[in-house]
Amino acid sequence: MRWLSRLSGLFSSNNVRRQRLRECLAQARVELEFARQHPDFCCDVCGPHGHRFFACSSAAAKAVSGFLAFHHVDAKEIYNLPRLVTLAAGYSKDFDHCSEWATALSAYGAIDREAKEGELEEALRLAEQIIGVVESAD
Ligand SMILES: [Zn+2]
Repeated sequence: MRWLSRLSGLFSSNNVRRQRLRECLAQARVELEFARQHPDFCCDVCGPHGHRFFACSSAAAKAVSGFLAFHHVDAKEIYNLPRLVTLAAGYSKDFDHCSEWATALSAYGAIDREAKEGELEEALRLAEQIIGVVESAD
């Protein structure tokens, strides 16, 4: 019954990776929700203006890296959202139309000044869209 144990090993590793993907998505959702609820949050790294934008970009990156991990890709450039999306597009065409969103969101992620009107909403929306693609990608 060697084949059977090998087969069940395959299934369980698949489940482990799927579980990890779910955890990444849950973390992404928490981070995005935090950015939405606490737009004025200031951290030592991002300073008084940047954290909410960084959080949007980071939430999307977390979701996409979860997708990549599911496909056995251990992406090193965890904060390079456009790069992560390019890698993900190699596994699902659902990511093909994410590259512009990723580039725009990544630019928001680097903001270190007072936000202009509508910018945070836009960053939240872009992150939401990318996370949504990860959730529905197959
Ligand atoms: Zn920060």
